[in-house]
Formats: sequence, structure tokens, C-alpha cells
Amino acid sequence: MSMTEAARRVLYLRRMGIDVWQRRSLAPASGAAAVDTPLPGAEVPPPDEGGGRSDWQALQDQVRECRQCTLCETRRNTVFGVGSPQADLLLIGEAPGAEEDRRGEPFVGAAGKLLDNMLRAIDLDRTTVFIANVLKCRPPANRDPRPEEIQACSAYLNAQLRHIRPRVILALGKVSAQALLQSSAPLKAMRERWHAAGPEQTPMMVTYHPAYLLRRPDDKARAWRDLCAVRDRLREPA
Ligand code: SF4
Repeated sequence: MSMTEAARRVLYLRRMGIDVWQRRSLAPASGAAAVDTPLPGAEVPPPDEGGGRSDWQALQDQVRECRQCTLCETRRNTVFGVGSPQADLLLIGEAPGAEEDRRGEPFVGAAGKLLDNMLRAIDLDRTTVFIANVLKCRPPANRDPRPEEIQACSAYLNAQLRHIRPRVILALGKVSAQALLQSSAPLKAMRERWHAAGPEQTPMMVTYHPAYLLRRPDDKARAWRDLCAVRDRLREPA
């Protein structure tokens, strides 16, 4: 017997660690006013084209070989991102951690598993979205990214945004949201409202970083509200 959509959603919510009764609080995110805010101002370096490679492949190669900031000296692997380059939803985190640096893939480990469950809760998965970070290389000891590193690497994120042209961006965590909005506002002030970010002024919602949610599971219900706002936006006609 196939599982109904409602039953499936309950299952995923439980995997996120959210009690089912909390779904009573589902409501559109309040204050959905758009805010025109540009991305960081670095110019996008045109990908090196040639040899029959696509722009996307050329961009990946460019990131892999990048030495635009000092993080290239300590990284094991660059972390370009994962998912569909035609995705409607682009999730943007902060920077690779130790395991991501080792594997060259974003959001692996416990935080990655939680992110997968968050995506499944809105009927998506990491093959149908694209997941990237503001920085493509790991800051040593997982320190916060420095402004000059964000500035240097923003060219690649801009290029990814221009190529993917997502309908919605979901910023994961304060560092990502502040970088994308060029703001020093606390996360609380950036959540539950629509912003506009990137070269195409793409609608953007801000939510908690999955690693934070692992430490503060009480905030998972708030994250669920953010996800519902994203889900509803994606369901609107293009
Ligand atoms: S963090 Fe970005 S700018 Fe710095 S070396 Fe890595 S890819 Fe290049």
C-alpha cells in the first residue's frame, strides 16, 4: 500500500526531529516584503571555455584550480556544490567543514543528513536542488570566513547563480545570509521575510544552518516555517 503524501510528510518531519503536533503552527512566513539587496560586488570571472567543455564544467575546473585567497593553501579539496545546475532552488551555506573538505562535497555528516531530511519534508532532494557554499574552500579550524575571502569567492557564487538562475535561494545560517545581503543584521532579523539577492535579484529566504539546528533542536519548528514559505513560493506559477 502506498504511503499518502500526508503520512510521508509526517515521517520526514519526525526525521527532522519535529513533533507532528507542531504542524498546527504552519503559516506563511510573515512580512513577505521584498528587499532589494545586491550580492557582494566582485566581478564574475568568465569561465575559461574551450576543449568542448561546457561553461559549467569550465567553472568547476576554475574553482578547482583557484588560488584567489589564502584558503587554497590549507584546503584538501575545493567544494563546488552538488545537485542540478537547472534547479529551481539554490541552497547556500557558509563554507566547507572538515568532512566536506575531505570529500569535496557540501553538507555531509550529521548536518547533511538533517538537511536531506529538511528537503524531503518539502518533497525535494539533493539531486533536484543545488547546494553550494559562500566559500568553496574550508577555513582552517572551521573559523568564520573573512570578508576578503568572501569577496574573493563571491565571483564563483555569482557565476553559479547566473548559470543556474534559480527561482528561489535559501540561505542557510547567519554567515551565508549576511554575505548574500551584505548585512550585519542578526539572523532573527533576516528570517521570515523575503529578500532579493544575487545578480538576478532572486527571491531569498533565510533559515538556520542545519549544524545549528543539531545543537538547538527547539528551533526546528521555526526552520519548518521557513521551508514551508520556500515550498509555497516554488509552487507559484513561474
Ligand atoms: S575560497 Fe574561493 S577564492 Fe579562496 S581559494 Fe577557494 S575557491 Fe578560490
